[in-house]
Amino acid sequence: MEVVKTVTLNVLEPTKVKQEAIDNLMRAYREALSFVVSQNILAHRMKLQSLFYEQVRGYGLHSQVANDLFKDAVAILNNVGKVKRNVTVPFNIPRSGSFALTKRGKPVVCFVALNGRVAVPIAMDGAYRRYKDYLNEGYKTTFFRLNHGRVHVVLKKQYQIKERYDAVLGVDVGVKRLATVSIINREGKVLKQLYLGEDVGDRQRDICLRRSILQSYADEGSRYARQALKRLKRKESDYTTTRCWQVAHEIVKLAEQYNAFIAIEDLNGLINAKGNRKGNRKAKRMPYAKLRAAPLSVAGQNGRLVVAVRPRGTSHTCSRCGSKGVRNGAIFKCPNCGYEGNADRNASVNIALRAGINDPKTNGPFAQFSEGNLSVNGGVLVHDEMSLKCLQHVNHLRDKPMNLFMGS
Ligand SMILES: [Zn+2]
Repeated sequence: MEVVKTVTLNVLEPTKVKQEAIDNLMRAYREALSFVVSQNILAHRMKLQSLFYEQVRGYGLHSQVANDLFKDAVAILNNVGKVKRNVTVPFNIPRSGSFALTKRGKPVVCFVALNGRVAVPIAMDGAYRRYKDYLNEGYKTTFFRLNHGRVHVVLKKQYQIKERYDAVLGVDVGVKRLATVSIINREGKVLKQLYLGEDVGDRQRDICLRRSILQSYADEGSRYARQALKRLKRKESDYTTTRCWQVAHEIVKLAEQYNAFIAIEDLNGLINAKGNRKGNRKAKRMPYAKLRAAPLSVAGQNGRLVVAVRPRGTSHTCSRCGSKGVRNGAIFKCPNCGYEGNADRNASVNIALRAGINDPKTNGPFAQFSEGNLSVNGGVLVHDEMSLKCLQHVNHLRDKPMNLFMGS
């Protein structure tokens, strides 16, 4: 598994000549990027590159910078469709950029500008120390971006993931509570169930109320209300972030106790699924990126496997018999086998079942991993002599790799 972090380093004020070189490079990059984007061709990077490579090189850009430019162009075309005023120029280490130390031991960032390489000193501040710490922890860097006075470095680290497990821990991400957890063994028997982060839902409800009150004052033009609203938003975000990480640690600790791997819903699928009411509701209220990133990161650093399962129907399927059931508020009822229980618990068992032991739809305890499941960080679930390999390379995983992006 790969964990990605970013650190923003500060650059000391360069000499006039160097500053000019940087300004010219930024301008050329922005113009070349605007040119490619203005062609308005929605295509794969290689296609764009084959069409416009010569023109882009005509702006004086290094070949590697030109290659990376097409990645940016694709991202822009798929997204906002317009080049921002303040572009960042991408560099590949070692092809178009590098970090080095001067003879006196001062750190510099080197990169190819329009007329050869330029080296700019880096401030030895807190950000630089953090960057050094990451390197000491085994993070590696092959990429950075440059804009005015700043270097955004991308650091990556690989983790070894443990291969054999006795159980699956299913996590249902919820609105009322952050996580409902069910641990099931190889036979599908539920070993433990519990709720984590129950405080978050209550708090969010309170905050929603306060927010709407403040918003109405702000709309009437109250400056105080506007500022209070801003503070409230930040406080809310800090609180949920902290709780996400705490809950993630609790989940991983539990998984270790039961020698289980972790299964969560493929949240991308949840958010993108059209007409998925649960998905939409969740997507609106919950900090999804955080909720996925936190357990993944903690699990990865502890060498524990995480599997993302297709979210469709996890809350409407009976975890006992696999029939379609009815959800009434917090209660799930199965008309087929008569099972009745907490809906989140039922969903978390379904998630665990889907991740490896059996998918009620494909029936039988040793059913293959279903198409929608993807092993996020690699690994094998072992059942007696039989080993089931997680789908490490299903197609849509390749399309949207589940890397973790976290600020420093
Ligand atoms: Zn049932």
